[in-house]
Amino acid sequence: MPSPMIEVISTDILILGSGGAGLFAALHAFEANPRAAILICVKGLLGKSGCTRMVQGGYNAVLHPGDSLDQHFRDTIEGGAYLNDQELAWTLVTTAPERIRELENRMGCFFDRNPDGTIHQKAFAGQSFDRTVHRGDLTGIEIMTRLMEQVWRRNISTLEDHRAIELLPTPSGDGVAGALLVDVRRGTFLVVRAKATLLATGAGPTMYKMMAPSAEKTTDGLAMAYRVGARLVDMEMVQFHPTGLLVGGSGMSGTVLEEGLRGAGGHLFNGRLERYMERYDPVRLERSTRDIVSRSSYLEIVAGRSSPHGGVYIDVSHLGASFVERHFPGMVERCRDVGFDLAREPVEVSPTAHYLMGGVKIDTACRCNLDGLFVAGEDSAGVHGANRLGGNGVACSTVFGGIAGDRMAAYVAGRSLPEVADAQVRAVIARIMAPFDRPSGEDVYILRDDLKALMWEKAGLVRHAGDLAGAQKALAVLRERFQHVHVGGSPRLNAEWHEWLNLDSLLTVSNMIVASALQRKESRGAHFRSDYPEADDSRYLQNIYLQREGEGMRLWLEPVQCTRLRPPVSAAPALEQAYVAREGE
Ligand SMILES: Cc1cc2nc3c(=O)[nH]c(=O)nc-3n(C[C@H](O)[C@H](O)[C@H](O)COP(=O)(O)OP(=O)(O)OC[C@H]3O[C@@H](n4cnc5c(N)ncnc54)[C@H](O)[C@@H]3O)c2cc1C
Repeated sequence: MPSPMIEVISTDILILGSGGAGLFAALHAFEANPRAAILICVKGLLGKSGCTRMVQGGYNAVLHPGDSLDQHFRDTIEGGAYLNDQELAWTLVTTAPERIRELENRMGCFFDRNPDGTIHQKAFAGQSFDRTVHRGDLTGIEIMTRLMEQVWRRNISTLEDHRAIELLPTPSGDGVAGALLVDVRRGTFLVVRAKATLLATGAGPTMYKMMAPSAEKTTDGLAMAYRVGARLVDMEMVQFHPTGLLVGGSGMSGTVLEEGLRGAGGHLFNGRLERYMERYDPVRLERSTRDIVSRSSYLEIVAGRSSPHGGVYIDVSHLGASFVERHFPGMVERCRDVGFDLAREPVEVSPTAHYLMGGVKIDTACRCNLDGLFVAGEDSAGVHGANRLGGNGVACSTVFGGIAGDRMAAYVAGRSLPEVADAQVRAVIARIMAPFDRPSGEDVYILRDDLKALMWEKAGLVRHAGDLAGAQKALAVLRERFQHVHVGGSPRLNAEWHEWLNLDSLLTVSNMIVASALQRKESRGAHFRSDYPEADDSRYLQNIYLQREGEGMRLWLEPVQCTRLRPPVSAAPALEQAYVAREGE
């Protein structure tokens, strides 16, 4: 393959990803510092790729006088099984109401309203108050369309179909100086030098057989962050949504039927038509948190009580067809597209990999351990702890995207552009062009399917030391086979090569998930170990961190800082004493 063309450009602020986090960051940075040069680069199309656009249910914010910030905070921490970074969670709940006002009054969104003109808020699982703001059941389209228009209005520079391949370190190695991108259409390379870089690529657990995120999300941001030396945390915490559509081998399998269906009173039945949530959470039933409902469904399925196609049923027909059609038109249409009548009959669903709670460790200013690198949205970790509440995801991306924009605007003022090492760029390009040079080899699509099956079976909803150790070995074998993949053609608009790049990221991040899951010898939130089925606060009210060390991975534990809300005393005697001691110092 001849030497590829490399173009070099510079900007003040580089934003990777154009979901809720990326676009909010761009708009806030523009507002705070209109003279700063801002560049948004996105693997797909601006505002049309990523998961914010797929948000169905809505956005949690305290707006009603009967609700309170303390209550939203408590729900978030209890839902997260006390693993959350409480300062991040507090920032989320206190800023979310402001963001809703901003979305309506400044960005132009219209959310559903009550007859008295106030914003309608609906019930979502795991919450003590109906606080989910929405636009029907397709809230994300409203938010993203309006944000996109605002970005266009301001003429903020954008590169669509430009995929970030590597974060480029500063010469000292303790900072980030921009990123290397590939132009997907032309197959050429672009070095973007930047004073501040935002990682907002939306993570996405697409390494599982059943999965819900948009297909182009392949954990690139987390893999890049890891390679450049960022600290990651809570990587064992993978959220499975309970109700992914089950449509055989179709690409629609795994697509989410939104949580509002359970919030509105939907029932779940196993293949024997038993309402099995009565056994797992007799109080909250189907309105229990996602981790519990997903695991309950999974346990029913593996116990042989599944529906004919290996799932369970969601049934909302008892709510009345006209109610369902009026309140959930998007879900009704989605089901109709694949031959199901959601308003009138039970529909087969399965747990589906939905969200990564883990990611890059950030502070409340979206900074991480690397100077010049900011992180927001699903690429970051800490807000949701061991389990994210429905409705807190889009709140997280817009709240922290806005904060990142403000902070980057201030950060770049008066700062000079850091240098980028040319040798580093050439080494990365040589590594990722290698599959073109092999005359033959492994098929990338087979490897991808092997990875998805492996993660689903051995590192999914129910985990065990033996399975996880097996998964770790199998991942090493897959990585070895990955080194022998052959890709035909050229880098220009080459789906097979991009699948290889996807797999590169997914293998890296799968390894982090499995290594962290092995470390956490207890069950907490989304992480369930059949060999340690109980939570163990005395040993594991701690976050698991990881960082690249040479060619290996270093893992370590640090106690959760319960700065605002302590877990129940009886549940955490040892650590409770430790906190008291620290406070007395
Ligand atoms: C089906 C579904 C329904 C959901 N419903 C809800 C809900 O009702 N309420 C809620 O709160 N949350 C919901 N969520 C979660 C919510 O979508 C996410 O929490 C949130 O939108 C993530 O925002 P983000 O900006 O971090 O990432 P995203 O919006 O996913 O954007 C990521 C962006 O990064 C780009 N990108 C990826 N890789 C690269 C790369 N290598 N280079 C450059 N660009 C890249 C993508 O193309 C995309 O533009 C839902 C998720 C799904 C999948």
